[in-house]
Amino acid sequence: MTEKKRALVTGGAGFLGSHLCGYLLERGFRVVCMDNLITGAVRNIEAFAGNDDFKFIKQDVTEYLFLPGPIDFIFHFASPASPIDYLELPIQTLKVGSLGTHKALGLAKAKEATFLLASTSEVYGDPLVHPQKEDYWGNVNPIGPRGVYDEAKRFAEALTMAYHRFHGVDTRIVRIFNTFGPRMRARDGRVVPAFIGQALAGRPLTVFGDGSQTRSFCYVADLIAGIYQLALSGENGPVNIGNPREMTVLQFAELIIRLTGSSSSIEHRALPVDDPKIRQPDISKAKAVLGWEPRVELETGLRETIEYFQGLELE
Ligand code: UDP
Repeated sequence: MTEKKRALVTGGAGFLGSHLCGYLLERGFRVVCMDNLITGAVRNIEAFAGNDDFKFIKQDVTEYLFLPGPIDFIFHFASPASPIDYLELPIQTLKVGSLGTHKALGLAKAKEATFLLASTSEVYGDPLVHPQKEDYWGNVNPIGPRGVYDEAKRFAEALTMAYHRFHGVDTRIVRIFNTFGPRMRARDGRVVPAFIGQALAGRPLTVFGDGSQTRSFCYVADLIAGIYQLALSGENGPVNIGNPREMTVLQFAELIIRLTGSSSSIEHRALPVDDPKIRQPDISKAKAVLGWEPRVELETGLRETIEYFQGLELE
C-alpha cells in the first residue's frame, strides 16, 4: 500500500481553503488545515470533523510553524481576501502575505514539500493590458487602500520565486481571479454575496460607481480543479485561473435580480478608491500547460450559490 500524501492548507477554514481541503480529502490526501479564524469559520470545515485524514490546527501562520511528520504539499491560502476585509485588517493582510508566506515557505523547504501560493489578479492592479496575461507586470498603487493586499501578494510572489531559485523549493503560483460559490461569507462585502443577499432580502442592489467596471466570475469547483492540476504539474511560473466570461457590474446586478426573481431596484454608490476598471483573465497558459478550462456555466454556479444563501437565511 502506498502512503497517503499529506497536505497543509493554510487558511483552510476560509472560502477557497475549505473547498480545497474537501477536494484533497476526496482524492485520498491527509489534510492539515491551519487557520486563525479571523475571516475563516469552523462551519466551513465541520463536514470533515470525524474524518481521520483531517486535522484542524487553530494558528496564525505568521507565527513559527511546527508540524511533526512529513508534508508533501503546502497550499498557502491564508489571507483576508475581500476589499472590505483587507481595509479593516490592513496590517494582518500585509503580515500574512509577507511573514506568513515566509513561514510557509520555510516549512516547505524543511519538509521538501511542493509549495503553492494563492496569488491574485490584484497583482495586475488597475490593468492597462486587457485581458490580463501572466507576463503583464501590472499597474498597482502601492500606497492606496488596496495596496496592503496587492503589494503583500506581489511580495509573496517574489519570495516564492526566491525560494524556488535560491533554495530549489518546488513552487507554484496561481493567480486567482474573481471566484464565487457556497461558503462565501454573507457579509464579506464582495459583489457576489452582497448582490445575492440584497436581492433575496428585497433590498436595493448597491452598484458602485456607474457599474461599467467589468469582472469575470469563476465558479469555485472549476477554480479548485485548476489549482489541483497546477499543484501536480511541474509549472513554476504564475498561472491565471479564472473564467474569461466578462461582464459589467451593472449587467451582473441585473443577472442576480433575474436569477433570484427579486423585485429589488438598483442604487448607485461611490466607487471605492483604485477599484479596477476592467478585469478578465487570459487563460491560454492554463489551457496549454494544464489542459484546464472552466466548465460550469455562470448561471448554473450562481443558482447553486443563491441556494446556499437561501439556506443560510432559513437558519
Ligand atoms: N461592487 C459593487 N457593489 C457591491 C460590492 C462590489 O458594485 O456591493 C463592485 C466593486 O466596486 C467592484 C466589483 O463589484 O467593481 C467587484 O468587487 P469585489 O468586492 O467583489 O471584488 P474585486 O473584484 O474588486 O476585488
